[in-house]
Amino acid sequence: MSKTFAINAGSSSLKFQLYQMPEEEVIAKGLVERIGIENSIFKIEYGDDQEFEMTEDIEDHGRAVEILFEKLQEFNIVEDMKEIEGVGHRVVAGGEAFKESTVVTDEVIAKVDELSEFAPLHNPAEAAVMRVFQEELPHATMVAVFDTSFHTSMPEVNYMYSLPYEYYEEYGARKYGAHGTSHQFVSQRAAELAGKPIEDLKIITCHLGNGGSITAVQGGKSVDTSMGFTPLAGITMGTRTGDLDVSLVPFLMDKLNISDVNEMVNIFNKKSGLLGISGVSSDMRDVESAAEAGNHRAQLAIDIFVNRVQKYIGQYIAVMNGVDIIVFTAGIGENSATTRAAVLEGLTWFGIEVDAERNDTRKEAQISSDESKVLVYNIPTNEEVAIAREVERLK
Ligand code: AMP
Repeated sequence: MSKTFAINAGSSSLKFQLYQMPEEEVIAKGLVERIGIENSIFKIEYGDDQEFEMTEDIEDHGRAVEILFEKLQEFNIVEDMKEIEGVGHRVVAGGEAFKESTVVTDEVIAKVDELSEFAPLHNPAEAAVMRVFQEELPHATMVAVFDTSFHTSMPEVNYMYSLPYEYYEEYGARKYGAHGTSHQFVSQRAAELAGKPIEDLKIITCHLGNGGSITAVQGGKSVDTSMGFTPLAGITMGTRTGDLDVSLVPFLMDKLNISDVNEMVNIFNKKSGLLGISGVSSDMRDVESAAEAGNHRAQLAIDIFVNRVQKYIGQYIAVMNGVDIIVFTAGIGENSATTRAAVLEGLTWFGIEVDAERNDTRKEAQISSDESKVLVYNIPTNEEVAIAREVERLK
């Protein structure tokens, strides 16, 4: 019986799903939060709705993995750790080095570490977790799946910034994008649903979660995406600004009496977006409830969110000179029928028509009318299963 982990390590967190492969059945999933901070939380779900949660100080990711392995055995989820034959790690920044998923070696880990300046919160934790798994499960095939790989197909005209060229050559200052695994997963599924070869299709994928990005997928390849050098760029997000005039950086630092530019960037990353505009929450559900209750700033946050998504869809129709399919996915994309409707109702000039009844869903479905010139799908994303599949492919 072969089991495969999909691991997603953040600076202070570790999310995991354990699959029975090749059936792709989830046999356990959970997360460890507040690693390195006191009162860390360990949660695991398994079997028939069984759950376990505990709070204790977990000093680092190594200890988090140790506890995970102890619990897997204690709850008889895994009898022998040798059953775990594969481990897939999500890696945020792969730079230009990793054009596809890669079997993990010492060199790969060193390179992931080296790319830390592109994702200072994520890559060091991911490299550390890979080292722990390498030691604990030496028999398993480990694969690194990069958030950026899918976007390495972007043409230079779309990934270059209008900066002195040497900054790209010397420092790698360019657009890398993110959420690649999700954009690839839902675009492939969209082509399957449409019953057409992906090579012939122009698809715009809207990954609208707490973080959000939009990608133009032409012939199965990412040709442009809304996130940039880091995941700060693009559409308005839960707490991130999305696109911004950089002249605001010195202006606001002066007004707010901030001397450390990192503090300013932190505000752009953590206190802006839906949270900053509404003053209510970064969570779309809370913002929607507040707007319904008449809160003007909450309504404004939703309006800005919808407007930015529409603008990117418009841009990408121009980038590809057309669009056959638009896909909505992730927390907001999959669940908020009102957000989807608001986005699509502003795009009727393109011949896009939403069917209100079909749109009233949280499941995989076509939500465009039969008359619509463009197919629109709601497709739940599943980055974890995509990671587990990459492990199987490379095993
Ligand atoms: P994710 O990062 O993909 O987990 O998405 C998180 C976002 O999805 C949060 O802003 C949630 O408020 C939003 N979300 C989840 N369920 C719903 C829902 N039923 N209606 C609106 N937004 C939702």
